[in-house]
Amino acid sequence: MSALRVAILGASGSIGQQALSVIDHYPERFQVFGLVSGRRRLDRPARFSVRAGDPGSGDRIEEMVTHPECDLVLVAIPGVVALGPTLRALRAHKKVALATKEILVMAGELVMGMARGHDAIRPVDSEHSALWQCLWGEAPASVSRLLLTASGGPFWARPEQDLSSVTVEQALNHPRWSMGPKVTVDSATLMNKGLELIEAHHLFRVPLDRIGVVVHPQSVIHSIVEFVDGSAKAQLSNPDMRLPIALALSYPERLPGVVPPTPFHDLGALELHPLDPGRFASVRLAREAAARGGAYPAVLNAANERAVAAFLDSAIPFSGIVSAVESALEAFPGGGDSLEEILAGDEFARRHVDSWLGKVRA
Ligand code: MG
Repeated sequence: MSALRVAILGASGSIGQQALSVIDHYPERFQVFGLVSGRRRLDRPARFSVRAGDPGSGDRIEEMVTHPECDLVLVAIPGVVALGPTLRALRAHKKVALATKEILVMAGELVMGMARGHDAIRPVDSEHSALWQCLWGEAPASVSRLLLTASGGPFWARPEQDLSSVTVEQALNHPRWSMGPKVTVDSATLMNKGLELIEAHHLFRVPLDRIGVVVHPQSVIHSIVEFVDGSAKAQLSNPDMRLPIALALSYPERLPGVVPPTPFHDLGALELHPLDPGRFASVRLAREAAARGGAYPAVLNAANERAVAAFLDSAIPFSGIVSAVESALEAFPGGGDSLEEILAGDEFARRHVDSWLGKVRA
């Protein structure tokens, strides 16, 4: 069996680096075909080595993801820039391992419509990988509900903390997962769970009102599927992204020794709690945006991206992130879900948040 040739978009980021460690661990199974890096150049040989943003990089990335010798594209660049290459890879019938949840949030209908075969898109997000694993072998009609687990982030367990006074350091101090700054802040606002709800809706074609969120601070249960007969399946493991990454590459096989087994005897209590929607409005906003459909989820996503960047620059308080998103959704006049309209919604939200920031600062 020849090795799977993998192109990584976002090779210098957290997921990209962990993917490279998985690839290096199974050299007979995987081979690096191409690398797109962001911040820094990687000193690692690959057939394609592209630095995002360099002149001509767009054409090189397109050539890489559609190349006949590329088997699978791991999409792990945050944000809207990942959308074009993902659509091109799917159009070229490549397998796509999707770590960038924004793609399904913004353009779920478009992307899923283009995905041919049931395993063309393989989730890398830990919750979605868990749902995917629980759904293997199950008929869609047997599924009654999906339950996404949320660690709750650093502030869920501290109800006394005033969210407007949260500092950048506090928000970046996630209790369970080590991730990039954008997704860590999204976990603290719980917008990450809102985005994941929309992602799950498209990926598994389950209506929004049949997807719930439950807080699980230990991050051992990665998500749960409930079935019509009253049974439920959950996927458990140590919080380690190498597991969903390896599975997205090796599906339908499981590779030996990807992560150490879960120490069940020492785990102690696993807690599950309801989410307080009054304290974290982000999940409600995401549900509303998804229910309105069209370009609304793209507005939610772009406004959040812009507002998180402003928070990381100390330009707005932590609680301003959700306020900025809410303001953009209220102001958006609406739009359909063609690629042009999605990108226009994205643009609208960024402009709106920028002018909102000007007013907040003034
Ligand atoms: Mg996740």
